[in-house]
Amino acid sequence: MAYGAHRSPLLPPHPDLTLARDCEQCLGWGTVVTRDGEHELCHACQPDPADDEGGAGSRP
Ligand SMILES: [Zn+2]
Repeated sequence: MAYGAHRSPLLPPHPDLTLARDCEQCLGWGTVVTRDGEHELCHACQPDPADDEGGAGSRP
């Protein structure tokens, strides 16, 4: 299982580095590390995919 270790289950799908490039929150990484030490998409520059399922009507 040493091969194909390019993907880690701890990493989020695929941050848009173009959006993250000028971000001060993630410093261009597109991801941030939570207090639990887990990586997640930067909420400041990355679109939140989970927010598309809510339908709570809280859109701007
Ligand atoms: Zn960011």
